[in-house]
Amino acid sequence: MDKNKKGLNTICTHVGEVKDNEYKGATSPLYMSTSYAFEDVDVKRYPRYFNTPNQEALCKKIAALEHAEAALIFGSGMAAISTALLTFLKAGDHIVLQQILYGGTYHLITEEFNKWGIEYSFTQGWRPQDFEDLIKENTKVIYIETPSNPLLTITSLSGIAEIAKKHGLISMIDNTFASPVNQNPIDFGIDVVIHSATKYMGGHSDICAGAVASTDENIARIFSLAKNLGGSLSDYTVWLLERSMKTMGIRVKAQNENAQRMAEYLDSHDDIQKVYYPGLPDHPDYDIAKLQMKGFGGMLSFELKENLDALQFQKALELIKSSMSLAGVESTVLSPARTSHALLGAEERKRQGISDALIRFSVGIEEPEDLMADIEQALKKTKNAGQMQKR
Ligand SMILES: *Cc1c(COP(=O)(O)O)cnc(C)c1O
Repeated sequence: MDKNKKGLNTICTHVGEVKDNEYKGATSPLYMSTSYAFEDVDVKRYPRYFNTPNQEALCKKIAALEHAEAALIFGSGMAAISTALLTFLKAGDHIVLQQILYGGTYHLITEEFNKWGIEYSFTQGWRPQDFEDLIKENTKVIYIETPSNPLLTITSLSGIAEIAKKHGLISMIDNTFASPVNQNPIDFGIDVVIHSATKYMGGHSDICAGAVASTDENIARIFSLAKNLGGSLSDYTVWLLERSMKTMGIRVKAQNENAQRMAEYLDSHDDIQKVYYPGLPDHPDYDIAKLQMKGFGGMLSFELKENLDALQFQKALELIKSSMSLAGVESTVLSPARTSHALLGAEERKRQGISDALIRFSVGIEEPEDLMADIEQALKKTKNAGQMQKR
């Protein structure tokens, strides 16, 4: 039986279940043991070896979802990212990374890589040519994020895969924003797919985890470092994550639909300056997004008209919460300039096109009419406050 041939929601619900042979329960039993038999066993199991029954089961589900041969799960998205990067990079090597990166990844590179003697270059843009231009003799890895945070730029997956193959490099993607529901980079030739499972895989803002999917050979190499670094995930969290992922397909599809509705609503709104969403036909890379994504995702960003105070607007929202993280079933907003991208400094933010008025919107599964009503009342309050100040 080829597990990859099953449909999305069947994989989400069933692949990687731990069979309850004793009681025939409907869900996977949870094995919390940190100590398993050592003598006379085929597999020596231990949580930090990433091979407890629940860990192995969840890895099968994630591999099936990403059309990969194998997967590993980690204690956080950053544990997955750092372990994957360090597997394929050593002192003297060089990596080309996308300019617009998740903040934690940017800090890992800029704060730690010099210590380890690993060279890095950030691209100026997000087109495949921007990456190829920076490849050197010692380059080993190309690292991308598409759709990116917070401007939702789209990079051609097949374009990057082609460059990586031509130069004998490992291509890696942080696929968190798309989720496996909307984008399967391995189908386009990308080598290593990474997720912060804290986001769409968990989906309820109550789990911190990470995942990597790739070939058996690459996952064996990543595992070999992972067991030494020790970033494994507790079985209780693994079990919760398996449960959450059963509904990932329907959650993310609802979020795609809501985000599309909200993007169109904001795009035609008199008080909104600009909307960044790959599902809008005037997005500069709409055609590439349509080619490589099955849905355009639940993330969008927008800017208010100049006369409106973005912070005041954010504070006036009632249903939509201000929140650091993203991808939960509840809608949240954040100001990248004041939070995730604050440490970049004003000049670098300007260079990347991240304005102070930019608001990142993680669209949840609420009724879009209620989200629109919340935005309307917040805009009204923001305008009234603006007029009061002028008096
Ligand atoms: C949150 C996030 C990460 C980091 O994941 P953690 O689980 O917080 O360690 C990495 N990449 C992207 C795109 C993210 O949104």
